[in-house]
Amino acid sequence: MTPDLDAIVTDIIAAMAQEDDRGTVASYIPELAKVDPAQFGIAIATADGRLISGGDADIGFSIQSVSKVFALTLALGKVGDQLWDRVGREPSGNAFNSITQLEHEQGIPRNPFINAGAIVVTDINLGGHQPRVAIGEMLRFIRYLAGEDTIAINEAVAASETATGFRNMALANYMRAFNNVRHPVELVLGSYFHQCAIEMSCRQLALAGRYLMLDGGHPGGGRVVSPRRARRINALMLTCGHYDASGDFAFRVGIPGKSGVGGGILAIVPGRASIAVWSPGLNTSGNSQLGTLALEELARRTGWSVFSPPEEGD
Ligand code: GLU
Repeated sequence: MTPDLDAIVTDIIAAMAQEDDRGTVASYIPELAKVDPAQFGIAIATADGRLISGGDADIGFSIQSVSKVFALTLALGKVGDQLWDRVGREPSGNAFNSITQLEHEQGIPRNPFINAGAIVVTDINLGGHQPRVAIGEMLRFIRYLAGEDTIAINEAVAASETATGFRNMALANYMRAFNNVRHPVELVLGSYFHQCAIEMSCRQLALAGRYLMLDGGHPGGGRVVSPRRARRINALMLTCGHYDASGDFAFRVGIPGKSGVGGGILAIVPGRASIAVWSPGLNTSGNSQLGTLALEELARRTGWSVFSPPEEGD
């Protein structure tokens, strides 16, 4: 049975407005601490070309670590499976910015969705160029995926993180000591902080994620990645997309998702939907409190899960 997404979105927005516990807005990046926690947005791009959205779905927010999905896609396009010589594919079970694990693992980060892994991916995407070239490429890629030319970087957020990102500097320097970061650390981080500071609305983010619901195809025709690569990226989102709460997210929501400390989550129902939710307040694991709740409710109401048996006609 086709779920009535308009009704479900309306109900979810009403339910989220009633929630008292909205989590805490990230403050370790000072610019993010200024965001009003009362906001909530949701957008669902479906495989049959519809876009259902509600709440603050048109307000731009800092995508932060959701950018790691697009950065990984670009890097795999550049170096293919060689990427896995430098980054693992296992859930970390540790916080997003953990430094201790790196020492045990000789500078090879657990997966591309923790900060250390994303910094290596950024190093790959730099490919000997200046950060502005790599950042320009990333912006063009995201605009092409979303079909929206207005997507841009919030320079104030990038500057705020550049001024305070000491932990990421430590991670990058540490990996440089193992030669797993190959460019000068300031160039890699310049690129990394800017990609995290890309600003998108839920509507734009849901549109940008469509290739992952379409087995790697671009909705406008042609292919972004092969079906195998799209499935692998989804697998990593399911197992590693929510840091040390990835298991809990898979248990509660049951679909691949990637969160960011800006409060956004991109979630994919293969063959059915690309979903973006946003609410700036985070839970103790650094994932959007209301965003996670909303996705849990959406999955419950629609029956969407990567663990459900195929429906007739699938
Ligand atoms: N720019 C953030 C950082 O590196 C991203 C973290 C996140 O979104 O989880 O700390």
